[in-house]
Formats: sequence, structure tokens, C-alpha cells
Amino acid sequence: MFDVTSVKADFPIFRNNPGLVFLDTGASAQKPQVVIDAMADFYARDYANIHRGVYGLSQRATTHFEEARETVQRFLNARHSREIVFVRGATEAINLIANTFGNTLKVGDEVLITEFEHHANIVPWQFLRDRIGIKLVVAPMDDTGGLDLIRFQELLGPRTRLVAVTHVSNALGSVMPVEAITKMAHHVGALVLIDGCQAAPRMPVDIQDIGCDFYVFSGHKTYGPSGIGVLWARAEILDELPPWQGGGDMILEVTFDHTTFQGAPARFEAGTPHIVGTRGLAVALDYMTKIGVDVIRDHEEKLTEYGARRLAEVRGVRLLGAGQRRLGVLSFEVDGIHPHDLGTILDQHQVAIRAGHHCAQPLMDRLGVPATARASFGIYNDESDVESLIDAIKSAQSLFRR
Ligand code: PMP
Repeated sequence: MFDVTSVKADFPIFRNNPGLVFLDTGASAQKPQVVIDAMADFYARDYANIHRGVYGLSQRATTHFEEARETVQRFLNARHSREIVFVRGATEAINLIANTFGNTLKVGDEVLITEFEHHANIVPWQFLRDRIGIKLVVAPMDDTGGLDLIRFQELLGPRTRLVAVTHVSNALGSVMPVEAITKMAHHVGALVLIDGCQAAPRMPVDIQDIGCDFYVFSGHKTYGPSGIGVLWARAEILDELPPWQGGGDMILEVTFDHTTFQGAPARFEAGTPHIVGTRGLAVALDYMTKIGVDVIRDHEEKLTEYGARRLAEVRGVRLLGAGQRRLGVLSFEVDGIHPHDLGTILDQHQVAIRAGHHCAQPLMDRLGVPATARASFGIYNDESDVESLIDAIKSAQSLFRR
């Protein structure tokens, strides 16, 4: 049985901030003690640079690093650990794809994204458009806050080379039908990149089931450290991609005239990585796996439904739609109170939410709002956090009514 109280006790932030109601896991998750300890232990016992030293310490550090790759492989159900590339986060992963696969595109080729995308899955494609002359095509949201699949299908065509979509919208919580999207995209010969930033912390991800070609996520949202993230790419594709950043660890041989490169994934991991971060990430993923990622999904799904229902009951609160399925995120407006003011007042009640455009300004434009208030859940939240949110909103409303 999933017991929020004992899970919450694993996170020292709550002990150190009594009364904290943390509803901003969508921005970054809190860290369980096991992750903090594993990273401190690594520094205290096994730390050295990886892949270089002939001495035992460096070999132990390298073992941790490569074991972390295997943990990520299992977490995503990837076929090979060499399909896992460690990057700084989802942002770097998408930029890597845009600067490798993207460079193989030609003038007039199309990259199809959606109105839900985070800036991290918009701007790299705009750079590519400006550099190479590709066309950036945007599939719209429907009126319920889900993806308009009919329009999406109509926008796919023979020039579509890549479909890049979020798995779960960070601004609304809408869950995208990524399996259907992938099938449709492959039907026209396009590759599929899924931004799993908000999905990986909340639902089992099986990249073989989805059938996609690239999947990216950030460690700091899956209860691990910041500065480490994952790009998964199908081996056949990864092996064909040119390198992006040049430097140590990604080469076979360098002369001033010519350089040869390692195979994947080392070819994409130039320079000293966040060595200890990979260990923190692995321990975080193991922590989630031990609880059960399906258990986490069920818990968050129930909590999200509960929160949606309770918010809808409050007069003057408008919950923004998220289509047919919402997970982990509630975006809302309160009549007469700017989201930033609301966020500030809620903070006085120790309720931490996010207020703003959530790095999804085009989506805000489409919704006709400059910003929203967003509550997002993690494994340590329960109904009492929703009740604290509602109480704090009501108190803000009474302040503004005066
Ligand atoms: N995509 C989505 C859906 C996100 O929620 C985020 C983080 N808010 C990102 C991409 C970017 O992630 P990062 O800043 O960790 O690279």
C-alpha cells in the first residue's frame, strides 16, 4: 500500500520547513534522503574523474556512472544501455537532437510540434528554422485543452521529418496520446521525439511500447539532482548521428588535421559530465521504482482528479481544461486576482505554487491569458495539501473582496 506519510518522511525538506505545502513539483521535485546520501557518499568515498584513470578510485567512479546508465535503461525499458546519453537536462537533450539530427534536414523539411510545448521544445527548432530554412508547423489544442488529433493528422505530410511533442503538458497537465501520435508520424516517415519532463516523474514510460525514436527527461523532476538529464535515442538512429559538442571523452584520436570519434553514447558526452549527478539520478529512479511507478501514477491521477473537483467547487476559480486526461498539474485562474499576487499571498500561507507563463508563452497566448496559477503534485502530496491550497485561495479572495 502507498503511504504518503511515510513517503513524505523520506524528504527532509518537509522536516526542515514545517508546515510547507509544496505544490511546485512540476518545476522541480524535492529530493529524498537516499538521493542526498548517495551523492554525499559518492563524493566521500568513490569520487574521481571517469573513463580516464587507471587507478581504482576512477574505476569505481566509472562503474557508478555506467551503472546509472543501466538504471536509466531499465527505467525506460530501452533495449541497450548505449542508447542512453547523459546530458544536462531535457533542454540540452532537445538542443542536441536539433544540432545533430536537425542538421541533416533540408530547406522546406518540416518539424511538427504542438501548441502545448515548453520553450525548450520550441526555441531549438526556431534556431534550426533560421539556420537551415526548415518549416516549423504547430498542431493546435482543441477547445477542451487536449490535442486536436484531427488537425494534427492533417498537418502531417511527406515533408514532415520530425514530430516533437510533450508527453504531459507542464502548463495544463494534459496527457498526450503519444502512442497514436507516434503511429501517425511513422506512417508518413517522420521520426518522433517525446519530451517526457512531466511524464517520467508520474507514469511508467516504456519507450518500446510508445514506439518513439527519441525520449528526453530531466533528473531534477524525477526526484534526482539538477544538472543531469537523459536523452534516449534508438540505437540505429543514434549511431548515425554526427557529434555535437567537441572535447574530451568523445574522441578516438585527435591530430591538428583530423579527429575520429567514439561511438554512441560517448560521442555525445564531451567533457566531464555531472558524474555524481548520474548516481543521484539512478538512486532517484530506483526509489521511484521501489514505490512502483504505476503506484505513483495512480496516486497522482487520483489526487489530480480530487484537486480538479475541489477547485471547481470554489466560486471565482476557473480551472483550465486539460482534454481527456490530466496528470499531476492543475492550472487555474482566480477572478480579480493576478496569478502573481495569488502566488505571493499563498506563500504567506506556506503554500508554494507557480504563477506565470510556465515557459509556454505561445500556449498562454492561445488560452488568451498572460499567466496562470499552477499547482503541481509529487509523491509526497495528498488531499490535505489540496485543502490547504483551497483554504489559502479563499483567504486571498477575502483579502481582495475587502
Ligand atoms: N519540457 C517540459 C514539459 C518541462 O516541464 C520542462 C521544465 N519545466 C522542460 C522541458 C525543460 O526542462 P529543463 O529545464 O530541466 O531542461
